[in-house]
Amino acid sequence: MILPIEVHGMFATNAYFYISDKTNSGFLIDPGAEAGRLLHIVNEYGFTIEKILLTHGHFDHMGAATSIRNRLHAPIYMHANGEKYATNPEWNLSRNYGLNIILHDVNYLEDGDEIVSDVDEDFRLKAIAVPGHTTDGVMYYSAKDHAAFVGDTIFKESFGRTDLHGGNEWTLLESIKQKVLTLPDDTILYSGHTEQTTVAEEKSRPWYAQ
Ligand SMILES: [Zn+2]
Repeated sequence: MILPIEVHGMFATNAYFYISDKTNSGFLIDPGAEAGRLLHIVNEYGFTIEKILLTHGHFDHMGAATSIRNRLHAPIYMHANGEKYATNPEWNLSRNYGLNIILHDVNYLEDGDEIVSDVDEDFRLKAIAVPGHTTDGVMYYSAKDHAAFVGDTIFKESFGRTDLHGGNEWTLLESIKQKVLTLPDDTILYSGHTEQTTVAEEKSRPWYAQ
């Protein structure tokens, strides 16, 4: 099951529950805000959250991660380049909004790492590095479910900003063209801020043509 929840902090961000239908256990991706509401949903559905996965280290994607980790004892994962964002409120942009978000005890992933459920080894996501919006961008991909959680790398009809700390437009476009748009056409792209789209739909955009 993929359950998108739009959470509201300084911005609206899509958090996603990616949960095995067989075990009701799985992962929470990008809990950007509203820890209480997300915990309520966990309770209501009886989910077991094994891991909290971040697509990148911007505060609007990780703002509720610490509270939820403390409550559910689910470890937090992000790409190895995320340490700078996790530990620096200027890099994770929280300081711009009068917040001081710092993550402790993060587990760092490398490109290609598999995140596997403890109770069902067929339930897994692959972390694929997609730098450009930030240096630590990863998408979490399931070939079986034709799904990729892409954060702010690519949106329906647009792509992420590249004018923030660590951003680079050339790098982002390479990540999109080489990593995202080479996934099977029917892959559904679950983004951080827009409604879902597909690889086929985004491939047709003129701005990815050259
Ligand atoms: Zn971002």
